[in-house]
Amino acid sequence: MTVKELIKNQSGSLVAKAYEFAKKAHAGQKRESGAAYFEHALAVAENVASWKLDESSIAAALLHDVVEDTGVPLENIKKEFGEDIAFLVDGVTKVGKIKYRGVEMQVENLRKMFLALSLDIRVVIIKLADRLHNMQTLDNLQQAKQKRIALETMEIYASLAYRLGMQKLSGELEDLAFPYIYPQEYAWLKKEIKDEYEKREQFAEKIRPIVLGELRKNIIKPLFMDSRAKRYSSLYKKLLRYDMDIKKIHDLVALRIILNTVEDCYATLGIIHKLWPPMPGRFKDYIAMPKPNGYRSLHTTVFCLNKTIIEIQIRTLEMHDEDENGIAAHWAYEQKKGTKQYNENRTSYADKRDLTWVHQLRNWQKEYSNPEDFMNSLKIDFFKDRIFAITPRGEVIDLPYGATPIDFAYQIHSDIGDSCSGARVNGRIASLDYNLHSGDVVEIITQKNKKPSASWLTTVKTAAAKSRIKSALNKKTWSLAAKPEVSHTEFRIVAEDKVGLLKDITGIFSRSHVNIVSVNSGPNARFHVLKIVCETPSKDKIARLAVKIKSLKEVKELNYKLR
Ligand code: MN
Repeated sequence: MTVKELIKNQSGSLVAKAYEFAKKAHAGQKRESGAAYFEHALAVAENVASWKLDESSIAAALLHDVVEDTGVPLENIKKEFGEDIAFLVDGVTKVGKIKYRGVEMQVENLRKMFLALSLDIRVVIIKLADRLHNMQTLDNLQQAKQKRIALETMEIYASLAYRLGMQKLSGELEDLAFPYIYPQEYAWLKKEIKDEYEKREQFAEKIRPIVLGELRKNIIKPLFMDSRAKRYSSLYKKLLRYDMDIKKIHDLVALRIILNTVEDCYATLGIIHKLWPPMPGRFKDYIAMPKPNGYRSLHTTVFCLNKTIIEIQIRTLEMHDEDENGIAAHWAYEQKKGTKQYNENRTSYADKRDLTWVHQLRNWQKEYSNPEDFMNSLKIDFFKDRIFAITPRGEVIDLPYGATPIDFAYQIHSDIGDSCSGARVNGRIASLDYNLHSGDVVEIITQKNKKPSASWLTTVKTAAAKSRIKSALNKKTWSLAAKPEVSHTEFRIVAEDKVGLLKDITGIFSRSHVNIVSVNSGPNARFHVLKIVCETPSKDKIARLAVKIKSLKEVKELNYKLR
């Protein structure tokens, strides 16, 4: 139901009240486009309503900019609308202060901080709805601002949406951001794929009736079928992995079949494989083994009419809705099911190290069988033992609860910890045993030749700080410390070719004092694929090195693994 419909159905409701309140508060305010500000609030609320969130969330969406932008105190919201809505509005305001300042290796921590400050999943979802509308209207801002916001959207918001299983939103956000971040690549892509795309779209249309007829013969009735064009942003990422060759992308246009039951899905797969032979190695059963973010579907690539290759995706309506709306779709279905097993093996293939927090989120989500409990349980408390504090440059430091500025200093670098003499927290001098909070901006004051004090040992919380303080206090232990074995890191770099490219890249290694062990390079038309193996002085150093290389404008993609 839309916000307007909701208000019509129930004129005295909280949503209706919030509508009037926000309209009045924003009266006369204009956005940069010249549109009335209230239109933004309403658009955000419409997004939230379309994801079927509860009334409080829709009301909070209407009110989300009232405190920040019109000067109505939070107290008034609390009085008029109650604790729950005030809490949501406050959360959205706080989270809005998190800014991505382009420190790439901090992104994961920034995402965590976002969740930690949100305290409630509904806050995250309202903020995502806010960002979606801001991206849709980004054209009206100045160029520099556009790029910053687009980057932030790509790195933080799209990624959070993806991990919450809201794939459609995540893809939309990425596609909205893509032209601002990569204007040239976007132009190239659009031109390059136009013909190919039309050809494949027509082909998908052509085989639809064939599939439908074959399913009918087997008494299977699909709910609907459509063709899905791959999004620009994900197409571009995939092209980087496939030598920029559009012919190698088999899912540029995929045929999608939506069915009633899981049984129908597997039966349909069988029928299709009988009709057209599958391409070896391209069949994926994400129903039996869902993706880490919960995505379920059967994917197969077949040699179709005239040996034309096409990808076919098969799923139930429930999987389809979940794919689009993720966590938001969840409670709508929980009501019907009322059982646990539904989610049972959803996260079995999660990359534990990277996705622990989503894993926790999913697990804990399973425990609630009715939507009301589920709404009440949207508190994000798995970060209650972590703190995310920020350096003045915007790097996020992940620390345990109760951590002090000394822990913070050692987390940045052991030398900074050793020479730490004071700290400023949010611009004010703080004592070295001060307990940090999430969102604190911490600046460490250092002094040359300063030595750690034994008293620090009683207040620091991290093991790293403790052992470093101990070894600095006791030089003997320090000199006896075993030298770490030299391990290696393998970089894979895809870059646009240019004269002197290799020299530029290896130059970064030597300036960073990282020894190169071997270099392999394969030329390929416009793009160059480089494999560089180097020594690993420390993980941090490698991460910083990667950021430096990536900042070269020729470098299109970079990944590395420690060996
Ligand atoms: Mn807003």
